[in-house]
Amino acid sequence: MGIQFEGTPHHTTPLHSTRLGCTSKLSSQLRKTASQFLALLPTMAATSSSADSAMHDPNSLKTRVCIIGSGPAAHTAAIYAAKAALKPILFEGTMAEDVSPGQLTISSNIAPGGQLSTASHVEDFPGFPQGIPGVELTDRLRTQSTRFGTQIFTEKVIYVDFSVNPFKVFTASRTVLADSVIVATGAVMKKPNVPGSGKGQSGFWNRGVSAYAVRDGAAPMFRDKPLAVIGGGDSAMEAADFLSKYGSKVYIIHRRDAFRASKIMQSRVLNNPKIEVMRNTVVRHAYGDAVGETRVLAGLELQNVVSEEISDLKVSGLFFAIGQEPATEFLEGQLELDADGYILTKPGTTLTSVRGVFAAGFVQDRKYRQAVTAACTGCMAAFDVVQYLQEMEAEKEKSRLFSIQPKEPRRLRKRWRSN
Ligand code: NDP
Repeated sequence: MGIQFEGTPHHTTPLHSTRLGCTSKLSSQLRKTASQFLALLPTMAATSSSADSAMHDPNSLKTRVCIIGSGPAAHTAAIYAAKAALKPILFEGTMAEDVSPGQLTISSNIAPGGQLSTASHVEDFPGFPQGIPGVELTDRLRTQSTRFGTQIFTEKVIYVDFSVNPFKVFTASRTVLADSVIVATGAVMKKPNVPGSGKGQSGFWNRGVSAYAVRDGAAPMFRDKPLAVIGGGDSAMEAADFLSKYGSKVYIIHRRDAFRASKIMQSRVLNNPKIEVMRNTVVRHAYGDAVGETRVLAGLELQNVVSEEISDLKVSGLFFAIGQEPATEFLEGQLELDADGYILTKPGTTLTSVRGVFAAGFVQDRKYRQAVTAACTGCMAAFDVVQYLQEMEAEKEKSRLFSIQPKEPRRLRKRWRSN
């Protein structure tokens, strides 16, 4: 699907052309280096009428920039935007909504911290030569963005309206009116269509089935129990390796003979005595058992796709590790997406199909998908926001001048005649 560059509704941006009707002063500002550019920002933010994040009505806020997301892209955008005195509002998502009574339930929501917080150990983020647990890196990023004045809400954005300006961002409990928006919602784990693994009465989602091994795997319900992981990539290897610290045994169930995972990750798993690999195997369905008043996962019916043999595997946990998909469901036709749901951006920028809305991180990146590249695009998004807001200021000023000028000569003429 091609992105609509021109002839779009009035609120959309022609993505290949960022030149707007700006004054010559603005044009020269935009040519300045990054550091010179940042130095101009506090003044700009301070003079804006809508700069205040805090409003009297606690359920309706106004901001110059609203950031949706909580991974490295979102927090890097927040750090730069806050440094530019834009007082960003950031929605980091929540784990709360899915939690139900009882020890056996685990949240499945988009948790604060995003995918990074589900990585057991991040080895490749520059500046951490010994590596760093994903959760700790996320905490550090969060602390840094609040240090400069980002206002963070642990709420999930459920809907946005980008057809109006200011843009509207809705959570279950509040509405934000934003002059600009950065979407950095990252990606969510894919879930295969395994009967018995879904939500509700008929499935064991959150009652033994999860897509977040690192986040959920240490829960008491999985301790010293046999567990299974579906997948054949690095995520599956990492999940199995992590789960082997807690479970009595971990089965990797892979639909093919060959793994997609890197050699180093494969060898870690193949040399782990607690891990057993089941190749050419698929899960036909998951079934449960009663534990007290709750029904939880008890086992899987498997099928070997070569021999077609059916077998039974008793497990207390089933973890999906079959890749990710962009978290763009809440956008509901508000932005141009590609066929797989990734937000389309103008190459080399974070501009989306709607002028004033920007995208950073995994939500728009199907190629690099690293914490450091996500952080990088977060920084770019903040710069793009600053440029956009300056352009808007300049356009407003220009139209104000044009709307005043025709009146002046008429009044002067009248006065001159009456004299
Ligand atoms: P991948 O796309 O690499 O692997 C997905 C795996 O899941 C494949 O083996 C695929 O099978 C299998 N799969 C897909 N759909 C289904 C389905 N419906 N039913 C059963 N199996 C299915 O995703 P990953 O998340 O593993 O990795 C994504 C990227 O992230 C990679 O670049 C990886 O290197 C990186 N990564 C790096 C890590 C690290 O370095 N620590 C950790 C985790 C990820 P098939 O092979 O048959 O297609």
